[in-house]
Amino acid sequence: MKFDTKVVQAGMTPDPTTGAILPPIYQTATYVLEEVGKDKGFDYTRSSNPTRQVLENLLATIESGKYGIAFASGMSAVDSCMKLLKSGDHVICSDDVYGGVSRHFNQILVNYGLKFTYVDSSNPDKIENAIQPNTKLIWVETPTNPLLKITDLEAVGKIAKSHKILFGVDSTFATPVFLKPLEFGADLVMHSTTKYLSGHNQIIGGAVITNRQDLFDQLKFVQKTIGAVPGPFDCWLTILGIKTLDLRMKKHDTNAQAVAEYLEAHPKVSKVTYPGLPSHPSYNVAKTQMSGFSGMISFELTGGIPAGKTVMNSVKLAQLAESLGAVETMITHPATMTHADVPKDEREARGLTDGLVRISVGIENPDDIIADLEQALDKA
Ligand SMILES: *Cc1c(COP(=O)(O)O)cnc(C)c1O
Repeated sequence: MKFDTKVVQAGMTPDPTTGAILPPIYQTATYVLEEVGKDKGFDYTRSSNPTRQVLENLLATIESGKYGIAFASGMSAVDSCMKLLKSGDHVICSDDVYGGVSRHFNQILVNYGLKFTYVDSSNPDKIENAIQPNTKLIWVETPTNPLLKITDLEAVGKIAKSHKILFGVDSTFATPVFLKPLEFGADLVMHSTTKYLSGHNQIIGGAVITNRQDLFDQLKFVQKTIGAVPGPFDCWLTILGIKTLDLRMKKHDTNAQAVAEYLEAHPKVSKVTYPGLPSHPSYNVAKTQMSGFSGMISFELTGGIPAGKTVMNSVKLAQLAESLGAVETMITHPATMTHADVPKDEREARGLTDGLVRISVGIENPDDIIADLEQALDKA
């Protein structure tokens, strides 16, 4: 089955009792046993739920993986992966990870004895040089949020394998439409399904996909034990979102390419970062491992913070909002919004300048998106 067929059809069988074309929303906490010791494969929804199972199988299928696990949020998916580790273990992590992920590592997990080293994962040598005897996990985001750094997954996959270190990839920005990290040696692929996978700002959710039975068993155990599970209705909304994933991503991608090229030519814009532009430092790696560049762009204005504020307050079609990956174009100021919890000196060291603006390009007509930016840039 080709990818654009899979997203629509995989795991979809008409409901045996009614013929309903969509999987029913099994909104139940528990299941009645036929007799002692005899259930129908379900006992309690924290352990498993038929609607969630449809989503989990679909997630595995679209990542071309064996096992999918759905979580209550992207953060609980990350947290569950970290629960594969023990106190004293060391993690090497991309330096430009999602703000919520670094907050989780630095303000919660360090209290449980986990150690973290942040490196620019777009340079695989920096990962290899950071390996310590207790390094148990390499965790990369590609493209990163918000600087859109690209990690060469094949190179890092080889490093992880030769040192017998687990390799996890947060593939939220790329989606399985454009990137399949398992094919490059990742052991764990993680998504915030809140973003492109569900695609309409309708739920908070997360996912992990793996080919390894041992990791799947451990993660299932974590999922049911800590209860980091999405509700059946959220699972159903995510299934619905995934049906149009392929269509949406292709539109996000072509729109973002057009917007990035427009911004790059604009005199008031000093820098545009988009993996689909030849000016991106990892353009060749991105082109080799991805089949498209997705919908996220970051840019800086020559007028710095005041110009950034003017643009963000002047856009009309683009919504000033946290989050990304939905059908609507959204615009964010990382320094005051998504990355406000990262201390200013650390932000600047990482290249997260106060003038940086991030756009999640939606699926509207690209001319309208560009016209909106044009009128806002005129005021800056
Ligand atoms: C949003 C996001 C997360 C966190 O996911 P939630 O669903 O908000 O908990 C993690 N990683 C990336 C790259 C994200 O964009």
